[in-house]
Amino acid sequence: MMLLTVVLCGLLCSTSQTLFKKTDENTGNNIEDDDFSVSTLLEKANANLGKNLNDPLVMFGDIAVPTGLQNADPCTSRGCLWNKNQDGNVYIPYRISNQFSQREKNIIVSGLESFHSSTCIRFRPHQRERDFVNIQSQTGCWSFVGRRGGEQVVSLSRTGCVFHQIVQHELLHALGFNHEQTRSDRDTHVRILLENVIPGQEHNFRKINTNNLGTPYDYNSVMHYGRFAFSRNREPTIVPIPNPNVEIGRATQMSSADILRVNRLYRCNSNHLTDKQSPSGNELI
Ligand SMILES: [Zn+2]
Repeated sequence: MMLLTVVLCGLLCSTSQTLFKKTDENTGNNIEDDDFSVSTLLEKANANLGKNLNDPLVMFGDIAVPTGLQNADPCTSRGCLWNKNQDGNVYIPYRISNQFSQREKNIIVSGLESFHSSTCIRFRPHQRERDFVNIQSQTGCWSFVGRRGGEQVVSLSRTGCVFHQIVQHELLHALGFNHEQTRSDRDTHVRILLENVIPGQEHNFRKINTNNLGTPYDYNSVMHYGRFAFSRNREPTIVPIPNPNVEIGRATQMSSADILRVNRLYRCNSNHLTDKQSPSGNELI
């Protein structure tokens, strides 16, 4: 109980600091500005991950690795995409654990439904389907990459993970996406400063041979870590190239490129979008 209180306080205290912080600069260069970035939230919520014997092996910050398969290579060419229905939609059955309060369930459902307006992904309550996502509050926030077959857990700990951008982030993993800064072409867009990374956490910055689907590298992706992710010394671990002052990893929702990638990976038909929506309509969700 003591532990939970500390974690919760850590999150709430830093959140209120962010709320009351006023700054004229908007470069995102201060570590305090990153308090609410996806990676900071993940890092805080996952601080105790691995201390419980039942925890899955988690790499890349919040990606669960199946036992026996010790890498997180892109699996989308090996059949981990979710199946497409004849009507052009991709139906993904989900269950939400009763561990969550109604308010938390609403945030989670809203995060799931945010995919509906801009992509052909349709999350719907699980009935008898073989493959489904089981959203539970385990230790930390994490997901497997892509469809695993059968039941697969997405963990959204009640202490630190039930936020809109985290729900989208973890479900994007389940759809088959990796972190933006592990992209195959990342070295032309960011510099990774391993000397500032917490020893033992370097694997979070390993490059993956990703399929980038012809989409541009996106600092504003909800899958991009913040400048100070896994920093051991409050110095940056990820610096944009060529302009080091560009904001990175501050997304509060899926970017237009995140949406475009889902549409391309799942070959969502453009006629499944209504007139008001463009395939890149970040502002529409
Ligand atoms: Zn992640």
